[in-house]
Amino acid sequence: MCDACSVKNRNWSLANGPGRSKLENVRVFRYFDTETRIRLCWLCSTNLFRMGESVFLAANPALKEQIKRNNATDSFDF
Ligand SMILES: [Zn+2]
Repeated sequence: MCDACSVKNRNWSLANGPGRSKLENVRVFRYFDTETRIRLCWLCSTNLFRMGESVFLAANPALKEQIKRNNATDSFDF
């Protein structure tokens, strides 16, 4: 499941078409204090690359909130 599509309830494999239904592991670390891994479909990873992290996350506020929540749970682990 693509993280950016799932917060939008979008069917990522349908949106990408059959030839491109693979997910990429993407690291975003400029925007948050810690390195964060998200899984993105071809469309979303292309958008991330074109827009840059901060613009991409500003355009996907629900994804940003989800990453923040995930980071908050991980941060107990130190
Ligand atoms: Zn996607």
